[in-house]
Amino acid sequence: MAQIIDGKALAAGIRERIKAEAAVLPRKPGLAVILAGDDPASQLYVKNKVKDCEECGFYSRRYDLPNGSSEEMLLGILNKLNADSSIDGILVQLPLPDQMDEKRIIEAISPEKDVDVFHPLNVGRIVLGDSPVWPCTPAGISEMLEAYHIPVDGKICVMVGRSNIVGKPMGFRLLRDHGTVIYCHRHTPDLAAMTRQADILIVAAGCKGLIRGDMVKEGTIVIDVAMNRDPESGKFSGDVVFDEVEPKASFITPVPGGVGPMTRAMLMKNTLTLAKLHMGLHEAPSYSRRYK
Ligand code: ADP
Repeated sequence: MAQIIDGKALAAGIRERIKAEAAVLPRKPGLAVILAGDDPASQLYVKNKVKDCEECGFYSRRYDLPNGSSEEMLLGILNKLNADSSIDGILVQLPLPDQMDEKRIIEAISPEKDVDVFHPLNVGRIVLGDSPVWPCTPAGISEMLEAYHIPVDGKICVMVGRSNIVGKPMGFRLLRDHGTVIYCHRHTPDLAAMTRQADILIVAAGCKGLIRGDMVKEGTIVIDVAMNRDPESGKFSGDVVFDEVEPKASFITPVPGGVGPMTRAMLMKNTLTLAKLHMGLHEAPSYSRRYK
């Protein structure tokens, strides 16, 4: 029987603390959220991000670019936001419509306002291990592990998935925290042989039912990042077969209610951190504290 990691409750507590911290700042932390196109899932994500800002007492500004808008138009908005002192974080909702070059757009966001931590300069800081902010999903998972007093130091951590948004930075975070990290992906020949070694197993493959009960060892800690939507019922499920894995695990996250709410909360935390940096109230980690 595993202990269920309650991401929803944790996230609610984090939002409360963020709100209290924001309330005593000289000005409100500001987040700009840009949605290009009319993808329904993206619309919901953007709506939730604006709602979270309201709940935390942040200033938020939303931009909706209609379908067919040009890349130049988006670049123009980014230039203005980069220079706007009321905005601490800029988020461009991905995926972008086909006519826009994701790389060009991400690189046009000021690295100081890159709240998602996708800019190559900030990815470099992630690799060095000394970034003041981390991509929201890895940051949320780390907070969950800390909240449940699960140390990473000395553990074998298996990361299934190597996306730029989740898998890769998560691995670097675990490495920074002294874990021994194994990355698995589509080309991994024997996934089960890898996952069975895991003290901490983090799965972000977007592949429903990928992790079965016989693929984990007793007492493992399982973090399921995936949100696979069933097209018929509309219900979400993870990559882990919960009923098979839960009896063997010591800790496990549910889907929904695990990683998702923590990812949302970390966007607010990152906005707050960037705001404090912009106000001179937060010290960026120095290179001397780089891990060895
Ligand atoms: P996300 O944004 O949630 O991280 P992506 O779709 O960008 O998701 O990335 C999925 C990752 O999962 C890729 O790195 C891919 O190699 C990995 N992956 C997908 N299917 C499998 C599988 N069957 N076995 C192992 N890894 C997989």
